[in-house]
Amino acid sequence: MARAAVCHRFGDPMTVEEVVLAPPGEGEVRVQLEACAICHSDVAYADGAWGGTVPTVLGHEACGLVAEAGPEVTALRPGQRVVVSLVRHCGACGRCADGEPALCEATFALDERSPIRFADGEPVAQGLRCGAFAEEVVVHASQAVPVPRHLPAASLSVLGCAVLTGMGAAERAGQVGPGQTVAVIGAGGVGLNAIQGAAIAGADAVIAIDVADEKLAAAEAFGATAGVNARSADPAAAGALAGGADVVIATAGSARAVEQGLALLRRGGTLVVVGMPASGEEARFDPTRLAHDGMRIVGTKMGSARPADDIPRLVALYEDGRLKLDELVTATYPLEAIGEAVAAMRRGEAVRNVIAF
Ligand SMILES: [Zn+2]
Ligand SMILES: [Zn+2]
Repeated sequence: MARAAVCHRFGDPMTVEEVVLAPPGEGEVRVQLEACAICHSDVAYADGAWGGTVPTVLGHEACGLVAEAGPEVTALRPGQRVVVSLVRHCGACGRCADGEPALCEATFALDERSPIRFADGEPVAQGLRCGAFAEEVVVHASQAVPVPRHLPAASLSVLGCAVLTGMGAAERAGQVGPGQTVAVIGAGGVGLNAIQGAAIAGADAVIAIDVADEKLAAAEAFGATAGVNARSADPAAAGALAGGADVVIATAGSARAVEQGLALLRRGGTLVVVGMPASGEEARFDPTRLAHDGMRIVGTKMGSARPADDIPRLVALYEDGRLKLDELVTATYPLEAIGEAVAAMRRGEAVRNVIAF
């Protein structure tokens, strides 16, 4: 038995109750969680933005200790500390071979049958392929990447989604390089990491665009050279953006952010779309300008992350003091207070609230 925060109906608050986890099958591990951060995707999912199955346990940005390794698991052993992400991948399909494990085309046993049940046997969906608002998860071994034991679990948990996604959007999808001008729309968990990714990659100017002044202040601490409050000023008129941006990263989950992003590009610039609006939202653009000015629109899932390579590299950057993780964690809450943690997030008070077990 493990305690889990269950979403019974989209739009309703989650309730903490006992669930039963199946033992790990072939290629799977059971992880006893130490911390799970709350991502905007969890909240959007719980609100029904993308459909899906209920009842479900959400949570997909976690850190914990391997408790049990299933058959055929060679790379992980009990006691090892891991970061858990939703990037379940086979390592053998075309997309995996291309270095895009987040786009893996394989189907896994866990995709067909959730490992989570209520005590009476009723199945509970494993939301976002993790179900990590729970004391324990059973995930595919590819979703668990070893990390050191001496670092704080809450800080490491955010590596599982926000950091991978934001850093990857800047480094991989945006290919940000030295001397460039980069604009990041939305300074939430992913946005702040796109900002620090652009700064680490050597961008000259990194302009944060948001509608909340507190988020813009946080953005400066993460390496933004300027901030624009889109509610009171036109980002295109901001000094640093006068010549247009080489790369714009749209992390806000809205079609409007995509349209705004295209308007900020200079000739030959790249718009990276990483935020996911609710299903059905559509953006408009002028194809003639796209062709005439040689612009590119690039979509990226999870920042095109390769967790097995990226997480150890990001941990090393953190230990060198070059990557901020502690600053992403606004507060920690016990599982019972998940409703409070989500409410604070909705009020815009948190970068990441983290459930600590
Ligand atoms: Zn996420
Ligand atoms: Zn694959």
